[in-house]
Amino acid sequence: METIVQKPIDCVLGITYNCNSRCVMCDIWKIKEFPELPVEEYKKLPSSLRDINISGGEPFLRTDIPEIVQILKDTCPKARIVISTNGFTPALIERQMKKILEIKPGIGIAISVDGYGDMHEKIRGIPSAWDKNMDLVERLQKLGMKNLRLAFTILPENVQDFGKVYDEAKKRGLQFTHAFAQSSEHYFGGIHVENHPDIKVLQEQYSYVMNQELKSWNLKRWVRAYFAYGLYRFSMELKQVLTNDPGTKFFYLDPRGVMYPSVVHTYSMGNIQNHDTFDALWYGTRAKDARKKVETEGVAAWMICTARTAIKRHPLKVAAWVFKNKIFGVTL
Ligand code: SF4
Repeated sequence: METIVQKPIDCVLGITYNCNSRCVMCDIWKIKEFPELPVEEYKKLPSSLRDINISGGEPFLRTDIPEIVQILKDTCPKARIVISTNGFTPALIERQMKKILEIKPGIGIAISVDGYGDMHEKIRGIPSAWDKNMDLVERLQKLGMKNLRLAFTILPENVQDFGKVYDEAKKRGLQFTHAFAQSSEHYFGGIHVENHPDIKVLQEQYSYVMNQELKSWNLKRWVRAYFAYGLYRFSMELKQVLTNDPGTKFFYLDPRGVMYPSVVHTYSMGNIQNHDTFDALWYGTRAKDARKKVETEGVAAWMICTARTAIKRHPLKVAAWVFKNKIFGVTL
């Protein structure tokens, strides 16, 4: 029997591939010509969305980013929105955020920080990368922003800094998220990533971060500890701890308007510009074929968008893991 596909609740919107960083694990910054979706097209997104991540490239290089946020707020009123940025243009971002906060006061910003001090500069290929990012944190905090996080991408070069960046986030009153670099046709611009960090260091760092999160009395942080556990298992075995729903509960929309089941599932579901409504794309033949491919040949993935919907679907499993590890502590 065919499963009935509902409307999605989570998505990543890559609004541009223009980027002013030079990250070692990503080729997006080398893309010179890539069309960008006209803002009006974002009006087609469904009101069912509860989490939207605006990403890139560097999303603040789109000057119409406040207009995009306005459309998303009107079209998807129940959605939490987070903008992911490399944070290398603090003055520009501060200026745009003043406008954006008037539109959507609770909006979040995730600043990518892939190492402590010089290591971050080395990974990102940008002089004074750390100082620029900390300058941005301070500017945004002065605007009264609370929904701020540092986002760390684990690589062999920086794995030893994972706990230090986590500590820095806590010291500055910021949230902390992380990801594991993975290869795909469009994730990190299609670069082939050989991501095999030192296992002993990975275990030490993960145990530290998970135990710190579990020590708190904050549900969100417990869920983050579970997310970290899932990412640790993924990085070791390339398997997911929970099943998830690429192309059913969430999707990735690239800057041209082409939709994919997720950032790592590169089966086109169609271009939103070629459809009058979201439903025409979502329930169309290409979307159906893409979902079939995910089922038959799709790779495993554990990223915040794929994991969030999976965690929501399996609350008891997550609660049992949190309960056990909060009492006995995480040992890897
Ligand atoms: S990882 Fe992000 S910031 Fe770095 S080059 Fe790629 S798109 Fe730009």
